[in-house]
Amino acid sequence: RSKTTHENTNKKKTTKATTSLPSTPVVAKKSFPVNDQTLNDGAIDISPEERVKHVLETLQGVDKAACEQIVNDILVLDEKVYWDDIAGLNSAKNSLKETVVYPFLRPDLFKGLREPVRGILLFGPPGTGKTLIAKAVATESNSTFFSISASSLLSKYLGESEKLVKALFYLSKRLAPSIIFIDEIDSLLTARSENENESSRRIKTEVLIQWSSLSSATTKENINNDNRVLLLAATNLPWAIDDAARRRFSRRIYIPLPEYETRLEHLKKLMARQKNTLTQTDFETISKETAGFSGSDITSLAKEAAMEPIRELGDKLMDIDFEKIRGISRSDFENAMLTCKKSVSNDSLKPYQQWAAQFGSNG
Ligand code: ADP
Repeated sequence: RSKTTHENTNKKKTTKATTSLPSTPVVAKKSFPVNDQTLNDGAIDISPEERVKHVLETLQGVDKAACEQIVNDILVLDEKVYWDDIAGLNSAKNSLKETVVYPFLRPDLFKGLREPVRGILLFGPPGTGKTLIAKAVATESNSTFFSISASSLLSKYLGESEKLVKALFYLSKRLAPSIIFIDEIDSLLTARSENENESSRRIKTEVLIQWSSLSSATTKENINNDNRVLLLAATNLPWAIDDAARRRFSRRIYIPLPEYETRLEHLKKLMARQKNTLTQTDFETISKETAGFSGSDITSLAKEAAMEPIRELGDKLMDIDFEKIRGISRSDFENAMLTCKKSVSNDSLKPYQQWAAQFGSNG
């Protein structure tokens, strides 16, 4: 992978013994000067697991149980997604490289006017790769990834949610660079309504306070860990987010349904690791026939097609050698197409396009 371009950029070597980070395929975490020694966890070149353990042992002014809950339920340490795993979405990838990945990897270059942004919104129809792209941003920027859906924040942790939000932002700073990914953000940052209850209002307020605290901690001379915490949110209902909250997302990136070229790339990626008899023409035909499919629909279609060679074996399946199973064919896709349909209607796309034109960052 191309991370080696950053290999020689570490200006200030840590004096601690370094160990490699086996689960992180990028170069070991860099050490950069920070202005608060209690937050200086980024300077220790240890494995992510050890780093988390160290932070949990040295918590300050925050609820321990809430922190442990975050580590157990919300912190994602072992799921790596790379840009290459995602078909298409090149303008979104480029925008995220510039606004997050490079700034997080080279904080020494991105300060002052070039300071990284604190909030990015990914919006678009369901199944278009928003979650996938969030994971890739975290992997590619070598960040700690916290992932939670707003609805579980509002329901599952009710009563504890404010403590949890505090703990979440606290840990994200201690474990910076960090991405806090909140899916279904519309349900949290929704425009005030009559039936909004007291507790969800309090959670929303706490998120806004904590989110603001990220920017106020900035200093010009030092690279504070707070500079490298991003709230990355996703929504299928961008218009439900209230105006003030919307403005806090400095970038609002439209993740649309895949075009022909992207569908073709996605299908080829999916089939690359599967025995198949598909020709270039077959790939092109399937890509044309799947107009209107989301990325998730295409994955489901390919999974269904992949079942056909197995299904036709019936009970013989138990005895057959893996190598003898026939390759996935064009007609498997034709059959799969009878059951797998597109999940997003044409009519529902218009509001996204309108919202993108009005509020989107990538036109
Ligand atoms: P969203 O968050 O937009 O609802 P997800 O990121 O959860 O969508 O996507 C669901 C699944 O669909 C992914 O796990 C992946 O298998 C597939 N998928 C969607 N978009 C893409 C894409 N652009 N490239 C590769 N796979 C995709």
